[in-house]
Amino acid sequence: MEKGSLIILSGPSGVGKGTVRQALLGLGGVDFYYSVSMTTRKPRPGEVDGRDYIFVSPEEFQRNIDNGNLLEWAEFVGNRYGTPRDIIEQWRGKGRDVLLEIETNGAKQVLAKCPDAISIFIVPPNFEALESRIRGRSTEDEPTIQRRLAKARAELLLQDNYQYKVLNDTPLRAAEEIKSIILSSHK
Ligand code: ADP
Ligand code: 5GP
Repeated sequence: MEKGSLIILSGPSGVGKGTVRQALLGLGGVDFYYSVSMTTRKPRPGEVDGRDYIFVSPEEFQRNIDNGNLLEWAEFVGNRYGTPRDIIEQWRGKGRDVLLEIETNGAKQVLAKCPDAISIFIVPPNFEALESRIRGRSTEDEPTIQRRLAKARAELLLQDNYQYKVLNDTPLRAAEEIKSIILSSHK
């Protein structure tokens, strides 16, 4: 059986990574295991532990680093985020594609360890659109929004490090483009 693809989806906070992922699942014709990350961030209203993230304390996160349980991890605007290691190889070994939704520092670490990974950076139509998406989500207070916007400017400079850039003008169109990237990785 052929090993499943490892797909890295990056892009600034609020660009629509989660929304595009949902649209991708809705399209059908692609099936993947979504890697649920570990984070020290507090859950947003509606987020479910184990589905959206594995929410842990800073101490528990540190234990996971020390025990080598994370494929990569990074600090993002005051919190830590990391990818649980073992489950990814388990799914890929069963021929299942695995999708990681991670920021740029983590993407770099994964590409160094898994050179066969497919890297996709989602870009907004322009910075104003990105800002209004972050604000429209209404999940962060103003200082956090400002920090995320500053981080976004820095992350946008790294988009050329990715194999593919996908414009999120509409979630459906972006999802169609990612679907064709994933399907072509199987040939
Ligand atoms: P991310 O996962 O990258 O942080 P989200 O998926 O949470 O981003 O999207 C941030 C906000 O932008 C959400 O309120 C979402 O509904 C909105 N959004 C996503 N894609 C688009 C789009 N193409 N056009 C307009 N709004 C969008
Ligand atoms: P948020 O707080 O908006 O859910 O996530 C903040 C940023 O962390 C986003 O860019 C998101 O993609 C990224 N992120 C989520 N999980 C991980 C992870 O496991 N590792 C890394 N490096 N980044 C992650």
